[in-house]
Amino acid sequence: QGIESYCKKILNYSQLKGLTEKLCASLAVSDTSSVLSGEVSRLFGDKDVTVILYLFHSRTGELGLSSSQKGQMRVNVKDKHGDLFDQWVIKVMKPLLVEDAQRDFRFDADRLGAERSQGVRSVMSVPLMIGTRAIGILRVDSPHPGYFSNEDLRLLSTIGDIGSVAIENAQLFERIEDLAIRDSLTGLFLRRHLLERLSQEMARQLRRKRDLAFMMIDLDDFKQYNDHYGHPAGDLVLKRVGAILQETFTDPGAFVCRYGGEEFAAVLPDCSRGQAMALAESLRRRIEQEPIPMRRQETHVTVSIGVAAFPLDARLKEELVGKADFALYKAKSRGRNTVCGV
Ligand code: GH3
Ligand code: MG
Ligand code: MG
Repeated sequence: QGIESYCKKILNYSQLKGLTEKLCASLAVSDTSSVLSGEVSRLFGDKDVTVILYLFHSRTGELGLSSSQKGQMRVNVKDKHGDLFDQWVIKVMKPLLVEDAQRDFRFDADRLGAERSQGVRSVMSVPLMIGTRAIGILRVDSPHPGYFSNEDLRLLSTIGDIGSVAIENAQLFERIEDLAIRDSLTGLFLRRHLLERLSQEMARQLRRKRDLAFMMIDLDDFKQYNDHYGHPAGDLVLKRVGAILQETFTDPGAFVCRYGGEEFAAVLPDCSRGQAMALAESLRRRIEQEPIPMRRQETHVTVSIGVAAFPLDARLKEELVGKADFALYKAKSRGRNTVCGV
């Protein structure tokens, strides 16, 4: 029996090594999560075993389902915020082993019946810790009582320790990547990122024989607004306008950027010149009507918009941007608060 447990340990160690290597290969949180739950499922796998990985949402702090696995059946976790067992782990911040849910004095069997945990008899669950902070929960359960041992829980704890580091790394990486491509004032993409995406989108639309519209949006007489209300007030306006742009361009694939100081740009795949002109016009009106409270009074700003279409107006990126810029210039010369096409 000694040799058998020794062999099992060696096997586990070699599996841990494989897990570490796989985790190191992924830098996105979603990839890391699915590698982790996939490997746990492989280690403790059985057709009835369910693996769930929860992560706390970085802003709201709420527990959210990140990844789950179940032998052949698809997991249907209705309660995404976790059940009694998960609540226990969050509260106590220690590994949990339940040998038989129906006989465990820590949990009220009546309350369990109402939740997803119905039918769950064995549970092991570990908090994913970074120092003293929990970033999530890794949990495995089975409908059979007495399914997991203390040895299993120890292995899951070790996997959890390795997994937490990998997930935290991926989270940090995503945050830094975000900082590099987004404007800190409005949260919109920066020009460089938009131009990269524009090239990709133009190539894709050319293959699909579809249109694309490009819009340049510039605040009117914004220097005056700044001079009158101050630069910090102007910043608030830019933030508000950025938010309106994001609310306006919600079609899949559409994206908006802060092109420069008080200038924004939008790339709209599958949008014809006519559709883009109509969209720009309703955006212009929306901004014109938006009340912006400043120093206990209601202020208003307006924008001028230049629209160019691909491949109708231009077939090259620089040309497309140039045409939209020229259309914007036309809108300014026609008295501002106007939309112009090429
Ligand atoms: P036009 O209608 O011709 O566009 O006039 P304008 O005054 O908006 O254009 P101009 O290019 O003369 O001035 C742009 C102004 O935008 C000047 C600058 O102070 C302001 N601006 C640019 N970036 C920022 C920013 O980040 N914050 C604030 N508050 N103002 C900015
Ligand atoms: Mg301006
Ligand atoms: Mg400008």
